[in-house]
Amino acid sequence: MSDQESATEGANEVERTDREHVFGTWSYQKEVDPTQVVDASGVRFTTADGEEYIDLSGQLMCSNLGHSADRVADRVAEQIRDVPFVSPGYTTEARSELGRELAEITPGDLTKTFFSTSGTEAVEAAVKIARFYTGKQKIISRYRSYHGATHGSISVTGDPRRLMAEPGVPGTIKAPDPYAYGSTLDPMESLEYIDEMLTLEGDTVAAVVVEPIVGSNGILVPPDEYLPRLKEIAHDHGALLICDEVMSGFGRTGEWFGCDVFGVTPDIMTMAKGLTGAYQPLGATIVTPEIADHFEEEMFCHGHTYSGHPVAVAAGLAAIETYREENLIERAGEIGAYLGDRLDELDEAHPSVGETRGVGLFRGIELTKRADERVPFGEREDKISPGTTVVDEVAATAGDHGTYVANMINTLILAPPLSITEDDVDEAVEALDAGLDVSD
Ligand code: PLP
Repeated sequence: MSDQESATEGANEVERTDREHVFGTWSYQKEVDPTQVVDASGVRFTTADGEEYIDLSGQLMCSNLGHSADRVADRVAEQIRDVPFVSPGYTTEARSELGRELAEITPGDLTKTFFSTSGTEAVEAAVKIARFYTGKQKIISRYRSYHGATHGSISVTGDPRRLMAEPGVPGTIKAPDPYAYGSTLDPMESLEYIDEMLTLEGDTVAAVVVEPIVGSNGILVPPDEYLPRLKEIAHDHGALLICDEVMSGFGRTGEWFGCDVFGVTPDIMTMAKGLTGAYQPLGATIVTPEIADHFEEEMFCHGHTYSGHPVAVAAGLAAIETYREENLIERAGEIGAYLGDRLDELDEAHPSVGETRGVGLFRGIELTKRADERVPFGEREDKISPGTTVVDEVAATAGDHGTYVANMINTLILAPPLSITEDDVDEAVEALDAGLDVSD
């Protein structure tokens, strides 16, 4: 049987047609059968074969509002009927209002936003802004990071997804991570390394770009002093700090943004995912007044047809209203603490749990073969059938018990809708418990 045939065995007509005519992204193209979703409501979704799942990962860590945010859906429909699109010389009430709102909810004096349609485009814009503003070319990022798939963003991405795009955009340099559990380097020592790199690169680095709390590379939370010190180090060397909040933003951490957890205002911040709660594709890059002023003088050589698309910005505005009215940010902190306690119980109960970590409703379970030696389940040697790792199997078993959870290499990534309840958490933890029996 060919790969294609085995992949489509048992699939329904929609799934077979999709497989035949639509490219999947990344490993989904080759390794995963698309499953048709027919209904989604609150924190749950239902597939065509009638199975219902708790969405413990908010699909791609983006459905922060859950799947039935009526205010957003209504606003989107209204905007499509009223003004579906305008060219850049025109604006809409939603665009100006969302720009004002982002200046309000982002930390410090961040003030002016460039809109795009995805996280990767938000990062592309950030990198270009930093280069134009400083007149320097190099960008330092960290190994355990993901910043997107377009050429510039994949070049500043540190994880192995960058390898097929290398050598990538010239002048992108990688630094070590604040990964206390899995690295021999202490997180604060890793900062000294970045300091040294900046010295050795001379005055040629435009910016350091980091996820304030690393997402898909394993939910890495730095020590409290890390991000403030990183900003100081970058500024001492004449480089900007770009914080990529595409995954950590919009309430995930129990604060509006990951940066708020550490009391830091970056020079440039990127957003997407929770910006609309995934109801529309929208990216945003916000900058300080100094940077904004610079582009009053110099043209910002960048833009897309759909920058500030009226329907997408209307969704963003309605999403922010929903976060506020449903008190979702504070709620994420409270229910996140409960989730954290329940995950600690799994850590106690399962020898294959190396560490559980995270903030708010942004948490990870790192699996390990031998907990005392912190040996991770690797990608290749631990395949239990072609294309399936032990960690995939843990997630699949949790799925059999009614909970969808995303996994990256050796970590389960938990980022549910912020409206999740304690009862939902208990149900999901039971499913994870069953899944983790597989790796023990
Ligand atoms: N930056 C971070 C931190 C991300 O997690 C992602 C996607 O997961 C991106 C950028 C890229 O966003 P998108 O997939 O919307 O292009």
